[in-house]
Amino acid sequence: MRRKYTFTVWARIGIVAVAFACLATAKTTAQAIEFSYSGDEGPGFWGELDPAWTNCSENSRQSPIDIKNAHKDKPLGPLDLNLHETEIDLINTGHGIQQRYKPGSTLTFAGVVYELQQFHFHTLSEHTIKGKRGAMELHVVFSNAGTGNLAVIGQIYDVDEENQFLAAFDQILPRHSGDNTTSPTEINVGDGLDDTRKYFTYPGSLTTPPCSPTVTFIVLEKRATMSEEQFHLFNDIMGNNFRPLQPLNGRTIHRSH
Ligand SMILES: [Zn+2]
Repeated sequence: MRRKYTFTVWARIGIVAVAFACLATAKTTAQAIEFSYSGDEGPGFWGELDPAWTNCSENSRQSPIDIKNAHKDKPLGPLDLNLHETEIDLINTGHGIQQRYKPGSTLTFAGVVYELQQFHFHTLSEHTIKGKRGAMELHVVFSNAGTGNLAVIGQIYDVDEENQFLAAFDQILPRHSGDNTTSPTEINVGDGLDDTRKYFTYPGSLTTPPCSPTVTFIVLEKRATMSEEQFHLFNDIMGNNFRPLQPLNGRTIHRSH
C-alpha cells in the first residue's frame, strides 16, 4: 500500500507540474496582447489587435446575437446533462470571474459528448431575447475532447429576487485580476440552470478573442433572477464585460419547443 501511495503522490506532482506549465504558457500568451470592452482595445478593434484574432472582425458566425424568429423544425429534447459537484475555485481572469470545474461532468448534445471545463459570467447579458437584455449571463463551457469544439449553455438573469445558487459564492468573489478564491464548499452548476427543457441553439463563436467560430450556443429561454445587491457584487468587479450583438448573417436559430 505504501508503494502505491508513493506512486500516487508522484503522479499527482507530475499532473500539477504539467498543469502549471500549461497555465504559465497561457498566461504568457494572454499578457502579450490585451483586449478590453471599451476604448482602443474595445470590441470594434479586437480583430486588428492580433493576427490570430481576425475572426473577431471577419468571421460570419459570431456571438452574441439577438435571439428572435427561432425555428422548430427538428426534435430537440431536454438537455442531456450529467453534472457533478465541484469545490468553489474562482479566478478573476481580468475579463471576468470564472469557476474551474472538476473533470467528469458532461453534456451530450446532437450525439456529441462534451466535458464541462468552467463557467463564468458577463454583466450585462451578452445575448438578448427579442431585444430584451438581462442584467447578467452565465456561460457554462463544455469541450469535446476529440475536436476541441465547444458547447456553451447561456443562462440570462434579470434583477428581481435573490439567487440561491449565486449566494453560495457571491460574498467571496475574487476582486482583482489574478486573484483566486477557494472554498471546500461544493457547488453544482446544475443548480444554477433554471429550466433546461426550453432553449434556443445556433452556431456561434467565443465572445472574447480569438472569437473562434467553434461554439454551439445553447441559450436557456427561462430567465433566472438575482437581487440588485448580487448584481452589484458582480458588476462592481467585472464592469461591463459583454460583447456587442453580432449580425446573424443568415444563420438559423432553432428552438427546442
Ligand atoms: Zn462567456
